[in-house]
Amino acid sequence: MELLKGKTAMVTGGTRGIGYAIVKVYLENGASVALCGSRQETVDKALAKLKEENPDYKVIGLCPDLGNPEEVQKAVGTVKETFGSLDILVNNAGISARDGLYDYNPDDFAKIMNLNVNAVFNCAQAAAKIMKEQGGGVILNTSSMVSIYGQPAGVGYPASKFAVNGLTKSLARELGRDNIRVNAVAPGVTRTDMVAALPDEVIKPLIATIPLGRVGEPEDVANAFLYLASDLASYVTGVILSVDGAARS
Ligand code: NAD
Repeated sequence: MELLKGKTAMVTGGTRGIGYAIVKVYLENGASVALCGSRQETVDKALAKLKEENPDYKVIGLCPDLGNPEEVQKAVGTVKETFGSLDILVNNAGISARDGLYDYNPDDFAKIMNLNVNAVFNCAQAAAKIMKEQGGGVILNTSSMVSIYGQPAGVGYPASKFAVNGLTKSLARELGRDNIRVNAVAPGVTRTDMVAALPDEVIKPLIATIPLGRVGEPEDVANAFLYLASDLASYVTGVILSVDGAARS
């Protein structure tokens, strides 16, 4: 099955975790992919791992400063030059902090907003210009279940994901006329490095609150990104798709 045959995708935060799983499933489905990371070293490592799996994968790595509109524009231009088009943008890079309000460092709040919100705006703006010229495209954002319920500490992160939902719904309405679909996926607790490192006494009570009885795998989330990027979702836009096992906290 090659749902993305002939398409080109750019995936931010593509070196590990959910982003890496998205890159992999897109490549398996025939797309050419530019993966972005924060450091050349981790980008190179991810590229080597993918090439080891399949030397024929059409994949390149970039590490622009996503908070800098000029660097983002340059990166998007490189993708278009390398593969001839940019059809799918996945704004997945994200960071969080769990401090309570009284101890929250305003610099951390600004850092979270810069990557989780400003970068989404920068990438969407640069990519949409190319997509409009091409006659259409797909922009997908990684939100979170905390964008629906908030969370009891670390207010910057849920605030940033509420903003991601706002960008998603508003851009879907604005860009529909240019045949650009905009959607988000809101994962629940997903087994990335951070979650895998949690001790049993933390993870077991957490799992007990999830009706499907397990945490999500990066592939569970990546498959939602595959569907939304593909023509199977040709009439789906402005949606925040929960992939969380019906977790409600
Ligand atoms: P991760 O920490 O495993 O990976 C983060 C990715 O973001 C990496 O590829 C990293 O290179 C990139 N990144 C980090 N800082 C960056 C920066 N300053 N500039 C550019 N890139 C940077 O994270 P993950 O758990 O796979 O999360 C990916 C997305 O999913 C995030 O947006 C996160 O908020 C969201 N999410 C994760 C979970 C979860 O349980 N893991 C749940 C809900 C939402």
